[in-house]
Amino acid sequence: MDKILDVKDLNISFHTYAGEVKAVRGISFDLERGETLALVGESGCGKTVTAKAILRLLKEPPAEIKPSSQILFDGENVINMSKKRLGSFRGEDVSMIFQDPMTSLNPTMTVGKQIMEALKIHKKMNKREAEAESIRLLELVNIPNARERIKAYPHELSGGMRQRVMIAIALSCNPKILIADEPTTALDVTIQAQIMDLLNELKVKFNTAIILVTHDLGVVANFADRIQVMYAGSIIETGTKREIFYNSQHPYTWALLNSVPRLDTKSKEELYSLGGTPPDLILPLQGCPFASRCEHAMEICLEEKPEVTVLSSTHRLSCWLQHPDVPKVERPKSLRGEIYE
Ligand code: SF4
Repeated sequence: MDKILDVKDLNISFHTYAGEVKAVRGISFDLERGETLALVGESGCGKTVTAKAILRLLKEPPAEIKPSSQILFDGENVINMSKKRLGSFRGEDVSMIFQDPMTSLNPTMTVGKQIMEALKIHKKMNKREAEAESIRLLELVNIPNARERIKAYPHELSGGMRQRVMIAIALSCNPKILIADEPTTALDVTIQAQIMDLLNELKVKFNTAIILVTHDLGVVANFADRIQVMYAGSIIETGTKREIFYNSQHPYTWALLNSVPRLDTKSKEELYSLGGTPPDLILPLQGCPFASRCEHAMEICLEEKPEVTVLSSTHRLSCWLQHPDVPKVERPKSLRGEIYE
C-alpha cells in the first residue's frame, strides 16, 4: 500500500446561531496513489465538507476542525500547515474541480489568462511559457482549436467546455490528488460521460489519485476503485466498487442503489425514492442515524450506535443487521444480479 492521504478521526463542526452543527463525525479513510475513491451520499451528509477540509478551504470560524483530527498528506498534517505551505499545497499537491464551472471561473477574464495565472504563480513561468503551456493543457483536455479558445471568455464556451477548462486549471501543476466535487451535475448526460472518460484518461496518464464527491452512484459505476457511503456525517459502509454494487449490506446503500436508473427499468416505472429526511445534525444523535428511515430498524437501532462489522480487508459497515444474534435480512431482490457497468 502506498498511501498518499490518510484521514484520521476527522471531526468538523459549524458554529451557528442555532447551535453547533456536527457535520463530520469522526471519519477515517485513506487514499492510495493513483486510486479513485468515491464519497457518496445525499446532500448534507458531510462529503463536500470533508473534501473542502482536505484543502483547508472551510472558513474557520464558523467551521472548526476538532484538534483530534488528522489529515496526513504524504505524512504531513494539513491541519498544521502554515499559510505559506497551504499556498503551494493547494494546486501543486492537491487540486479541486467544483460543481459549476460558470461560478468558479472568473467571467471577466479569458480562460487563457485564468490558466496562465496558476502557471505563473505555481510554476514561475513567464508570459510566453505560460501561454504555450495553456494551449497544451487545453489540447490535453480535448478542447479543439485551443490556440483560439484561450482568448474566449467563459460565457462564450458551452458547459462541457467550461468544465474541461476547470480540469485543465486543476491539472496545470500536476497535483498528486484531484478532488472532483460533483463535476458533472450541471451537465447533460452525454457530456457527463465525456467528462468522466476524460478524468479517467488523465488519471491513468498521470497516476493522479482522485476523490470523487457525488450523490449519484450511477456516476461512479465505471469510475471508482473504492466507494465510501456517507450518512449524517459518518461513513456507514465502505468497500471496493464490486463489494458495494454486488454485495452491499447496509440498508441505506441499498436505497441509494435502488434509486439508480437501470437499463431494464421500464419506461413508465417510477424510480425508487427514499422517504423521510436525514437527522438534524444540531441535535445529539442516539443510536443509528438512519433509524427513522430504515424499514429494518429494531429497538437497539434507536438506542445504540451500531458496531463496525468487517466483511473483508476492504469492506466494512455499521449496521445492527450484521450482529450474529439478529436474524439474517437478505439483500433486496431488486439488487440481485444486476449489471451496472
Ligand atoms: Fe437500519 Fe438498524 Fe441497520 Fe441502522 S442499524 S441501518 S436502523 S437496521
